[in-house]
Amino acid sequence: MRKLLVATHNQGKVREYRALLAGLPLEVTYLAAEGIAAEAAETGATFAENAISKARFYADLSGLWTWADDSGLAVEALGGGPGVFSARYAGPDASDADRYRKLLDALAAVPWAERSARFCCTVALARPAAEGGLVETADGACEGVIAFGPAGEHGFGYDPVFYVPAYGMTMAQLAAEVKNAISHRAVAAAAAVPLLHRWLSGS
Ligand code: IMP
Repeated sequence: MRKLLVATHNQGKVREYRALLAGLPLEVTYLAAEGIAAEAAETGATFAENAISKARFYADLSGLWTWADDSGLAVEALGGGPGVFSARYAGPDASDADRYRKLLDALAAVPWAERSARFCCTVALARPAAEGGLVETADGACEGVIAFGPAGEHGFGYDPVFYVPAYGMTMAQLAAEVKNAISHRAVAAAAAVPLLHRWLSGS
């Protein structure tokens, strides 16, 4: 069976994506299982640029069809920021809590009606250059509002301050199964699966 490399060091993402890809005739592998420790640079101006460069980098390194993603938080009152800088928003050694506290401080004077935000994700699928180097992408988003304070213990990253109006809770208060059904990553992944079906059918 052909292997698909899920290019992440995050075991949580591997688990999520493995479940989503379970029905496909592909053997899902990941960076550590392939002995790959190299880090792809993330210097793009958009989620798509970063996802594409990661997917290409690991496809060429491994010789495998590769699935990579890039994601982050776009806050309307910050002109779409922190966006591609979400992971680096509070500096290189900051924790998740440092990042969301910095965000809460930045929005301290912003009223509820102007606190809209969206989690964004792009999944890029790449074939190695030796197989033609085709790359295709799929996007997903999840709409919310930045809360005035953190709540909830689940998830990671900015989840405690991302309020999801449809559920009346923050992303960190939602059960993992619910988050994994509605998240930006789930939406992007669901849109990427048909691309893989097409690749497998030879078109
Ligand atoms: P990455 O795409 O996994 O590198 O994530 C980039 C940044 O966005 C990190 O700061 C993550 O914490 C944040 N982020 C990505 N996905 C989520 C999510 O599902 N919940 C909360 N934060 C997220």
